[in-house]
Amino acid sequence: QTQDNLLEVNNIEVIYNHVILVLKGVSLSVPKGRITALLGGNGAGKTTTLKAISNLLASERGEVTKGSILYRGERVADLNPAALVKKGVIQVMEGRHCFEHLTVEENLLTGAYTRSDSAAVKRDLEMVYEYFPRLRERRRSQAGYTSGGEQQMVAMGRALMSRPETILLDEPSMGLAPQLVEQIFEIVKAVNEGEGVTFLLAEQNTNVALRFAHYGYILENGRVVMDGDAAELRENPDVKEFYLGMS
Ligand code: ATP
Repeated sequence: QTQDNLLEVNNIEVIYNHVILVLKGVSLSVPKGRITALLGGNGAGKTTTLKAISNLLASERGEVTKGSILYRGERVADLNPAALVKKGVIQVMEGRHCFEHLTVEENLLTGAYTRSDSAAVKRDLEMVYEYFPRLRERRRSQAGYTSGGEQQMVAMGRALMSRPETILLDEPSMGLAPQLVEQIFEIVKAVNEGEGVTFLLAEQNTNVALRFAHYGYILENGRVVMDGDAAELRENPDVKEFYLGMS
């Protein structure tokens, strides 16, 4: 992609436990205001790529051993996740990670913990409820008792409460019924269009991701094997055969 890139990943290599080479030179770029999808099967390296960007590999004994990651032209490899949030980049991890004992609304407010302007925080809470009407209905419920789809919404809503420029979204469809997957992607699109938030999303569900994203990268075994405009990838015979389940 050649437009105004916010994020650039250049030829990164990631090794776990000093020996397991998982990313073997991955490059990708994420233009401002667009939805970019990182596709590929189980274990292809999607989550590892997102964690490399947001510097979450250390706790898993992983490290970037080659290449560079730039956000707005600046190296971000040494920033911890909190510092990255200040720069406008936030990751929504796979598996949702709500605070189960807090209510939905309290969970959302934790996303604004670094902000002191309470009127603005209140407006943003309202903004989140506009995108996720379901969360408004459930705002007094304990998050641990909400459904998987609602928890995915809480995780995304909480990320939005930090007023990010870019959201790294890991496998939003995981474990959700098809109708809910569709709903989650509709919301991603609405937030992208309405707030101008840039998305890099990792997704195994190629079909839905390529309908909502502008551009896609396909990872296989730690390498990008194909990339292109989403519409182009949807028509590509290899993508159809291997990823869309039709030939
Ligand atoms: P998934 O959809 O299952 O999350 P993925 O494309 O996101 O797949 P990754 O989770 O990035 O893939 O995993 C890529 C490879 O790295 C896999 O082979 C996995 O077993 C390996 N891996 C992931 N985490 C670790 C770790 N902490 N230590 C060693 N190997 C790991």
